[in-house]
Amino acid sequence: MPGTRRSPSIESIDKNAPVTRLLLVDDDESNLLSLDAALEGTADELVSVRSGEEALREILERDFAAILLDVKMPGLDGFETAEMIRNRKRSRHTPILFLTGYRSDDQLFRGYHLGAVDFLFKPIIPEILRSKVSVFVELARNANLVKEQAEILGRAEQRFRMLLEAAPDAMLILGEDGRITLVNTRTEELFQRKRRELLGRHFSELVPQWTFATQAHGMEMLAVCSNGKMFPADLTSSPLRTEEGLLTTVVVRDISERKLAEERIRRLNSELESRVAARTKELVRSNETLRQFAWAASHDLQEPLRNVIIFSQLLARKITPEQNEEGMNFLDEILTGGRRLERLLQALREYVQASDAGQHELVATDALLCLKGAIENLGASIVELDAKIEHGPLPRVFAVPVLLIQIFQNLIGNSLKYRSSEPVRIRIDHAVADEEFTFSVQDNGIGIDAEYHDRVFGVFKRLGAEREGIGMGLAICKTAVERWGGRIWVESEVGRGSTFRFTIPNASGSS
Ligand code: ADP
Repeated sequence: MPGTRRSPSIESIDKNAPVTRLLLVDDDESNLLSLDAALEGTADELVSVRSGEEALREILERDFAAILLDVKMPGLDGFETAEMIRNRKRSRHTPILFLTGYRSDDQLFRGYHLGAVDFLFKPIIPEILRSKVSVFVELARNANLVKEQAEILGRAEQRFRMLLEAAPDAMLILGEDGRITLVNTRTEELFQRKRRELLGRHFSELVPQWTFATQAHGMEMLAVCSNGKMFPADLTSSPLRTEEGLLTTVVVRDISERKLAEERIRRLNSELESRVAARTKELVRSNETLRQFAWAASHDLQEPLRNVIIFSQLLARKITPEQNEEGMNFLDEILTGGRRLERLLQALREYVQASDAGQHELVATDALLCLKGAIENLGASIVELDAKIEHGPLPRVFAVPVLLIQIFQNLIGNSLKYRSSEPVRIRIDHAVADEEFTFSVQDNGIGIDAEYHDRVFGVFKRLGAEREGIGMGLAICKTAVERWGGRIWVESEVGRGSTFRFTIPNASGSS
C-alpha cells in the first residue's frame, strides 16, 4: 500500500460509465487493510494512501465518491488535509468521513466545520462503515448519471441547432398561442429582424394570412419584412406534440425568384403565341395569293390551249395520211398533249375550288345521297367492269355536299382504276368515335406500298405510269377534307387492296 484496486464484482459494468472511487487515508497499514476488506464491492475502485500529502496528490488527479480520512496522522493530520481538500475546486464538495479513535465535542465541531459529513469511531464496525459509505457511492453514481444525461441532452440540442442553422429555409417554432419561440438565422435574414425582435412576436405579424388552420404543405402566401416590404413565400406548417403542449413548426421559403421566373415564362409564352398568330396570318395571306395565282393561271392558259387544239384539229382535216404521214403523227402528238394539258388545268381548277376557304358554308349533308351521286357519275365504268359496290348505312354530316360527292367519286374511281385481276369489290362504311365520323372506302385492288402512303396525297403525285391519270384526285380529296377540319389517310399493302379513310367532325354531337 498505497494502492488502487478495482473491485472484482464491478467488472461487468458498462465500460463507458464513469468510475466511482473511494479514497482511504490512514497512516496505519493494518487499518487500511481492514477498511479495504470491509468496503470491498461498494465502489468500483478503492484507492488507499498512507498520508495527507499522498491523499492531496490523488485528489488532484481524479474524482472520488467519498474520502475516508484518519484524523490522527503524522505530517498533515486529518483536519489539515480536509481543509486543503476543501480549498481545492475539484474536491470542494467531495464528502469526507473522518475516522477517529475517541469522541470529543471539540473534534466533532472542528470536523463538521471543515465540511465533514460524518464521523466513524474506531474500532470500525464493518456493517456500519459499509452502509454509510454506500450512501455516498450511490449519490456519486446518481450524480454521474445526471451529468451524463445532461451531456447527451446537450449534444442532442447542439445537433438540433446545427441542423436548424444548416437549413436553407427560415424555420420557426410557434407556441400554442401562435407566438414565436424559436427561429434560425435564415429567419433573421429573410424577415430582416434580429432574433430578439422575433421571439415572442405573433407569427401573423410576419405572414398576415397565416392561421392555425393553415396546417398544410406548400401554401403560397405573402410575407412581410421589417421595412414593410412584401415577398411571396411558400409555407409548410405542421403540429409538433411536446411536453410543453402543442407546438407548430413552420418552414418559410422565399419564392420571389421562382415567381419571377414563372412570370418570365408566361410573358415569353404569350409573346410566342402572338408571333405564331402573326405568322399564321401571314401564311394564310400568302396561301390565298398562291391560290388566286393558280386559279388565274389555269384560266388564262385555257384559252390559248383551246386554240392550239382547235387549230390542230382543223389542220388534221386538211391533210390526209397519204399526203404527209409524218405530219399526221406530229399532229396526233400535239392533240394528245393538248388534251392532257386541258385535263391538268381542269384538275388544278377543281383543286383550287376544293381548297377555297369560306366560299361554301358547311351544311347538313346526307352522306348516302352524296355516295349515290358519285356512283351515278361513275355509272358507265361500274357497269363496264361489273364492279360490286356495297355500303352500310351512312349518317348525315356537316360538310360541303359537292366536295363530299367529289371525294367519294375520286376514291371509288381510283378503286376501279387500280383494280387487280380479281372482279372489283368496293365497300363504303362509316364509324363514329371521339366526336367525329370516319368514312372508309375499301377495295380489293393492287394496293399501295407503305412507303407511298403519304406521298399519294401530294399534288400531281402518281405511282405508276401504266394507268392513265394526272395525280390530282387524292390531293383534291385531302384539301377538301381539310376544309371541315378532317383528315384522310390510307391503310394498304401491295396485293391486298386499299382502305382509304377520311373524317368529318360530328358537329351536331349525334351518332
Ligand atoms: P391519279 O389516280 O390521277 O394518278 P390520285 O391522286 O388519285 O392520282 O392517286 C395518286 C396515286 O395513288 C395513283 O397514281 C395510284 O398510284 C395511287 N392510288 C390511288 N388510289 C389507289 C387505289 N385505290 N389502289 C391502289 N393505288 C391507288
